[in-house]
Amino acid sequence: MPQVHLVSHPLVQHKLTLMRKKDASTNSFRRLLGELSSLMAYEVFRDMATQDVVIETPLETMTAQMIDGKKLVFVSILRAGNGILDGVLSVVPGARVGHIGLYRDPKTLQPVEYYFKMPKNMEERDVVVVDPMLATGNSAVAAVTRLKQLNPKSIKFLCLLTCPEGINAMHRAHPDVPIFTAAIDRELNDHGYILPGLGDAGDRIFGTQ
Ligand code: URA
Repeated sequence: MPQVHLVSHPLVQHKLTLMRKKDASTNSFRRLLGELSSLMAYEVFRDMATQDVVIETPLETMTAQMIDGKKLVFVSILRAGNGILDGVLSVVPGARVGHIGLYRDPKTLQPVEYYFKMPKNMEERDVVVVDPMLATGNSAVAAVTRLKQLNPKSIKFLCLLTCPEGINAMHRAHPDVPIFTAAIDRELNDHGYILPGLGDAGDRIFGTQ
């Protein structure tokens, strides 16, 4: 059973509400997504490993902790996942970034990979897959299945919004992958949109609606 971490911090909820409003401009939607992504990153990295380092303060020598950002990879599911990257990279600037592009085959309705670019040595890395909407779960499940072929140390999934259908799809396919989300909405509609949701995240980030 995947753990679902619902990030209920008031700042996160406030910004999410502003993003849901249909009259939020592209500019403010994108800015809010960036701010929200950084706030959510705090929760995603709560259990992140640190290394002891010896440093000099102005007064004495001490052993302190630091994270190793280079071992971390954010994997963006194109294209809406890119809206989360700036925010999470502002919190962990040393992280690497991978991209995965999937389209839905019109006949089989199954996700087909058209782009896949990851850093080397994925088996040494912890992965956070990012996509604002975990809706049907088809692309998220396909992305995680593909990434598992590279044997990363761990995989987490970070989204803004999900729904019971998305959680169940991920749960069935990848029960070991924890999901971090700011909300679990009511349901999917017949077109695969989350209700009440926030509309098409890609269109709202890039102003293409
Ligand atoms: N993708 C979106 O952008 N919005 C939804 O509601 C569902 C999937």
